[in-house]
This record gives sequence, structure tokens and C-alpha cells, in this order.
Amino acid sequence: MSIYQLEPGVVARCLFCRQNAVSVRELSGRTFDLRDEYDLRFDESMRVPICTKCGDVYVRGASLQRFSEVLERLYDERKRKAVEEFVSVIGHEFADVPRHRWEELLGVSPGYISRLLKGSRNLSTPLEVLMRGVTREPKQTLRMIGYSRRLPPALAARIK
Ligand SMILES: [Zn+2]
Repeated sequence: MSIYQLEPGVVARCLFCRQNAVSVRELSGRTFDLRDEYDLRFDESMRVPICTKCGDVYVRGASLQRFSEVLERLYDERKRKAVEEFVSVIGHEFADVPRHRWEELLGVSPGYISRLLKGSRNLSTPLEVLMRGVTREPKQTLRMIGYSRRLPPALAARIK
């Protein structure tokens, strides 16, 4: 029988790590990496063959389609949240600094943050790193950005 069509309760050998550890399991609650995002927590109920040793998931066809769609959605949500949290922090803590000054500072075009929020642009890894830095440790991150960019006076004053 194909490992992709494993019956519940049956254990098969993993094609990847060669351990006898593949069985049909619930994916909900398990975490997966996708491109530059880590530990995306699967939030839908789906039972598929998975290796409990190496985590290899045996899906194809419609199951693969659904599995991928969930991960892509979680990926988009993770990225969008990074932008939303950034916007929230700069709105609260740096209300006197207009958004276009931040865009200038981050090296993106005017209106880029809005396009990220709308999802019409993808948040790159380096920009996400900077945004998350500003969100978590605003002053420390501004100091770091200041090593290579001229900070607007309103921001430079905040980190003195
Ligand atoms: Zn395995």
C-alpha cells in the first residue's frame, strides 16, 4: 500500500529518515516552516500520514493542495501581523513621525507600508526583521538603523 494512503493505526517506514514512524496523525497544532517563516501552527483539522521522527508529511493531490493552502494562509497572516504590529507601535510611540519618514528610513517607496497592509506587496525578510525589531525594541533598533541611515531629527532625538 502507498504510504500516502496509509490506513489509520498502520505504521510505515519513512521514505526520508527510514524510521518506522509514519502513521496517520492530526496536523492541527503541529508546527511547520515555510520559506522564511518558522513554526507556523497548523490550525485546521486534517489527518494525514506524518513521520513522528523527522516530521515528513505524506500528502499529494487534493491533500497536498489543502495542506499548502493552509500553510500559505498562515504565512500571509504571520507577515501581515508583523506589518500591523509595526504600524501600531510607530502610531503609538512615534505619533509625531509621519509614516512616509519611516518609509524613507526603511528604504521603501512612499505608500509601501499601506501596500503591505493591503497585501499587494510581499514583506521581504530584511524588512520584516527591521519591522519586528522596531516593534519589540524600538530604540535599540533605531540605533542600529542609524548606523547606516540618517534618522529623521524627530527619531534621532528619541534615541539620544
Ligand atoms: Zn521520517
